[in-house]
Amino acid sequence: MQKKTVVVATSNMHKVTEIMSIVDIDGYEFVPLSKLGNFPSPVEDGTTFTENARIKALAAHRETGMAAIADDSGLEVDALGGAPGIYSSRYCGDEGNDAENNAKLLREMQGKQDRTARFTCAIVFIDEDGTELSTKASVEGKIDDHEHGSEGFGYDPLFLPDEYGGELSMAEITMEQKNAISHRGQALRMLKDELLRRK
Ligand code: IMP
Repeated sequence: MQKKTVVVATSNMHKVTEIMSIVDIDGYEFVPLSKLGNFPSPVEDGTTFTENARIKALAAHRETGMAAIADDSGLEVDALGGAPGIYSSRYCGDEGNDAENNAKLLREMQGKQDRTARFTCAIVFIDEDGTELSTKASVEGKIDDHEHGSEGFGYDPLFLPDEYGGELSMAEITMEQKNAISHRGQALRMLKDELLRRK
Protein backbone atom coordinates (compact mmCIF):
# COMPACT_ATOMS: atom_id res chain seq x y z
CA MET A 1 0.00 0.00 0.00
CA GLN A 2 1.32 3.48 -0.83
CA LYS A 3 1.97 5.49 2.31
CA LYS A 4 0.65 9.00 2.83
CA THR A 5 3.36 11.21 4.30
CA VAL A 6 2.11 13.90 6.67
CA VAL A 7 4.47 16.72 7.57
CA VAL A 8 4.32 17.73 11.23
CA ALA A 9 4.78 21.49 11.46
CA THR A 10 6.77 21.55 14.68
CA SER A 11 10.37 21.11 15.75
CA ASN A 12 9.20 19.65 19.07
CA MET A 13 10.02 15.92 18.85
CA HIS A 14 7.81 15.20 21.87
CA LYS A 15 4.79 16.42 19.86
CA VAL A 16 5.83 14.40 16.80
CA THR A 17 6.05 11.23 18.92
CA GLU A 18 2.70 11.96 20.57
CA ILE A 19 1.01 12.52 17.19
CA MET A 20 2.53 9.30 15.81
CA SER A 21 1.44 7.24 18.78
CA ILE A 22 -2.15 8.58 18.92
CA VAL A 23 -2.90 9.00 15.19
CA ASP A 24 -1.64 5.49 14.41
CA ILE A 25 -3.47 4.91 11.13
CA ASP A 26 -2.27 2.22 8.69
CA GLY A 27 -0.79 3.86 5.62
CA TYR A 28 0.04 7.20 7.32
CA GLU A 29 3.56 8.23 8.23
CA PHE A 30 4.48 11.42 10.06
CA VAL A 31 7.68 13.34 9.34
CA PRO A 32 8.83 16.47 11.17
CA LEU A 33 9.15 19.49 8.87
CA SER A 34 12.73 20.00 10.08
CA LYS A 35 13.69 16.65 8.47
CA LEU A 36 12.66 17.96 5.04
CA GLY A 37 14.64 21.18 5.03
CA ASN A 38 15.26 24.49 6.71
CA PHE A 39 11.98 26.34 6.37
CA PRO A 40 11.26 29.75 7.93
CA SER A 41 8.71 29.72 10.79
CA PRO A 42 5.55 31.56 9.76
CA VAL A 43 4.35 34.54 11.81
CA GLU A 44 1.66 33.25 14.18
CA ASP A 45 -0.56 36.32 14.11
CA GLY A 46 -3.92 34.57 14.40
CA THR A 47 -6.34 35.51 17.16
CA THR A 48 -7.37 31.95 18.10
CA PHE A 49 -5.63 28.61 18.66
CA THR A 50 -7.24 27.27 15.47
CA GLU A 51 -6.07 30.24 13.36
CA ASN A 52 -2.50 29.81 14.59
CA ALA A 53 -2.55 26.04 13.99
CA ARG A 54 -3.90 26.73 10.46
CA ILE A 55 -1.12 29.25 9.75
CA LYS A 56 1.52 26.61 10.68
CA ALA A 57 -0.16 23.71 8.84
CA LEU A 58 -0.78 25.78 5.67
CA ALA A 59 2.82 27.05 5.63
CA ALA A 60 4.17 23.47 5.89
CA HIS A 61 1.74 22.29 3.17
CA ARG A 62 2.78 25.14 0.83
CA GLU A 63 6.50 24.59 1.44
CA THR A 64 6.38 20.83 0.80
CA GLY A 65 3.25 20.17 -1.29
CA MET A 66 2.46 17.36 1.17
CA ALA A 67 -0.31 16.81 3.68
CA ALA A 68 0.52 18.68 6.89
CA ILE A 69 -0.58 18.81 10.51
CA ALA A 70 -0.03 21.46 13.19
CA ASP A 71 -1.31 22.20 16.66
CA ASP A 72 -1.58 25.24 18.85
CA SER A 73 -2.39 25.17 22.53
CA GLY A 74 -2.42 27.14 25.73
CA LEU A 75 -3.94 27.85 29.11
CA GLU A 76 -7.08 29.96 29.56
CA VAL A 77 -7.76 31.30 33.05
CA ASP A 78 -11.28 32.64 33.68
CA ALA A 79 -10.31 35.18 36.39
CA LEU A 80 -7.77 36.64 33.93
CA GLY A 81 -10.26 37.05 31.08
CA GLY A 82 -8.88 34.00 29.24
CA ALA A 83 -5.18 34.98 29.57
CA PRO A 84 -2.54 33.81 28.88
CA GLY A 85 -4.44 32.08 26.02
CA ILE A 86 -2.66 32.22 22.66
CA TYR A 87 0.25 33.99 24.39
CA SER A 88 0.83 31.10 26.85
CA SER A 89 4.38 30.28 25.79
CA ARG A 90 5.53 33.91 26.20
CA TYR A 91 3.29 35.15 29.04
CA CYS A 92 6.29 36.52 30.97
CA GLY A 93 7.74 38.22 27.88
CA ASP A 94 10.35 35.53 27.09
CA GLU A 95 9.45 32.75 24.66
CA GLY A 96 9.23 29.33 26.35
CA ASN A 97 10.39 30.38 29.84
CA ASP A 98 8.19 27.99 31.88
CA ALA A 99 9.56 29.04 35.29
CA GLU A 100 8.90 32.74 34.68
CA ASN A 101 5.52 32.05 33.06
CA ASN A 102 4.46 30.10 36.16
CA ALA A 103 5.80 32.81 38.49
CA LYS A 104 3.79 35.45 36.62
CA LEU A 105 0.64 33.30 36.70
CA LEU A 106 1.00 32.85 40.49
CA ARG A 107 1.38 36.64 40.92
CA GLU A 108 -1.64 37.42 38.73
CA MET A 109 -3.76 34.86 40.61
CA GLN A 110 -2.93 36.13 44.09
CA GLY A 111 -6.17 36.75 46.01
CA LYS A 112 -8.41 35.51 43.16
CA GLN A 113 -11.35 33.41 44.35
CA ASP A 114 -12.28 32.03 40.93
CA ARG A 115 -9.48 29.56 40.08
CA THR A 116 -11.16 27.85 37.10
CA ALA A 117 -9.08 27.33 33.96
CA ARG A 118 -8.61 25.04 31.00
CA PHE A 119 -5.90 23.84 28.65
CA THR A 120 -7.12 24.02 25.05
CA CYS A 121 -5.56 22.49 21.94
CA ALA A 122 -6.51 23.04 18.31
CA ILE A 123 -5.26 20.73 15.56
CA VAL A 124 -5.40 21.55 11.85
CA PHE A 125 -4.74 18.93 9.17
CA ILE A 126 -4.34 20.06 5.55
CA ASP A 127 -4.54 17.24 3.02
CA GLU A 128 -2.42 17.08 -0.17
CA ASP A 129 -5.30 18.62 -2.15
CA GLY A 130 -5.61 21.53 0.31
CA THR A 131 -8.78 20.34 2.07
CA GLU A 132 -8.80 21.00 5.80
CA LEU A 133 -9.85 19.10 8.91
CA SER A 134 -9.71 20.74 12.31
CA THR A 135 -10.44 19.64 15.86
CA LYS A 136 -10.32 21.37 19.23
CA ALA A 137 -10.54 20.05 22.78
CA SER A 138 -10.07 21.24 26.34
CA VAL A 139 -9.35 19.82 29.76
CA GLU A 140 -10.95 21.70 32.67
CA GLY A 141 -9.32 22.33 36.02
CA LYS A 142 -8.18 24.87 38.60
CA ILE A 143 -5.04 26.92 39.20
CA ASP A 144 -3.38 26.10 42.51
CA ASP A 145 -1.57 28.65 44.70
CA HIS A 146 1.72 26.77 44.53
CA GLU A 147 3.55 24.43 42.16
CA HIS A 148 3.68 20.69 42.69
CA GLY A 149 5.04 17.77 40.70
CA SER A 150 7.91 17.38 38.28
CA GLU A 151 6.35 15.59 35.28
CA GLY A 152 5.15 17.30 32.12
CA PHE A 153 6.06 20.85 31.17
CA GLY A 154 4.77 24.42 31.05
CA TYR A 155 1.94 25.22 33.45
CA ASP A 156 1.44 21.55 34.47
CA PRO A 157 2.69 22.03 38.08
CA LEU A 158 -0.01 24.69 38.69
CA PHE A 159 -2.93 22.99 36.95
CA LEU A 160 -5.25 20.68 38.91
CA PRO A 161 -7.38 18.74 36.39
CA ASP A 162 -10.98 18.09 37.51
CA GLU A 163 -10.54 14.42 36.54
CA TYR A 164 -8.23 13.98 39.54
CA GLY A 165 -10.60 15.69 41.95
CA GLY A 166 -8.51 18.85 42.17
CA GLU A 167 -6.01 16.90 44.31
CA LEU A 168 -3.18 16.16 41.88
CA SER A 169 -1.53 18.56 39.47
CA MET A 170 -0.92 17.71 35.83
CA ALA A 171 2.77 17.37 36.82
CA GLU A 172 1.97 14.63 39.36
CA ILE A 173 0.38 12.15 36.96
CA THR A 174 2.14 9.92 34.44
CA MET A 175 2.44 10.77 30.74
CA GLU A 176 -0.10 8.00 29.97
CA GLN A 177 -2.59 9.42 32.48
CA LYS A 178 -2.07 12.91 31.07
CA ASN A 179 -2.49 11.78 27.44
CA ALA A 180 -5.77 10.05 28.37
CA ILE A 181 -7.36 13.31 29.58
CA SER A 182 -5.33 16.09 27.99
CA HIS A 183 -6.53 18.70 25.52
CA ARG A 184 -3.91 17.48 22.97
CA GLY A 185 -4.70 13.78 23.49
CA GLN A 186 -8.44 14.41 23.01
CA ALA A 187 -7.98 16.66 19.95
CA LEU A 188 -5.65 14.10 18.33
CA ARG A 189 -8.09 11.21 18.95
CA MET A 190 -10.88 13.33 17.38
CA LEU A 191 -8.65 13.94 14.35
CA LYS A 192 -7.87 10.23 14.07
CA ASP A 193 -11.63 9.45 14.03
CA GLU A 194 -12.20 12.09 11.30
CA LEU A 195 -9.34 10.73 9.17
CA LEU A 196 -10.62 7.16 9.53
CA ARG A 197 -14.11 8.30 8.47
CA ARG A 198 -12.63 9.78 5.26
CA LYS A 199 -10.52 6.75 4.38
P1 IMP B 1 2.43 25.43 21.96
O1 IMP B 1 1.11 25.00 21.46
O2 IMP B 1 3.45 24.34 21.92
O3 IMP B 1 2.89 26.73 21.37
O4 IMP B 1 2.24 25.67 23.52
C1 IMP B 1 1.87 26.89 24.02
C2 IMP B 1 2.16 27.01 25.49
O5 IMP B 1 0.99 26.62 26.21
C3 IMP B 1 3.27 26.13 26.05
O6 IMP B 1 4.52 26.76 25.94
C4 IMP B 1 2.85 26.02 27.50
O7 IMP B 1 3.22 27.16 28.19
C5 IMP B 1 1.33 25.99 27.39
N1 IMP B 1 0.85 24.59 27.30
C6 IMP B 1 0.26 24.00 26.24
N2 IMP B 1 -0.05 22.72 26.52
C7 IMP B 1 0.37 22.51 27.79
C8 IMP B 1 0.35 21.35 28.63
O8 IMP B 1 -0.09 20.26 28.29
N3 IMP B 1 0.87 21.53 29.86
C9 IMP B 1 1.40 22.71 30.29
N4 IMP B 1 1.45 23.79 29.54
C10 IMP B 1 0.94 23.70 28.29
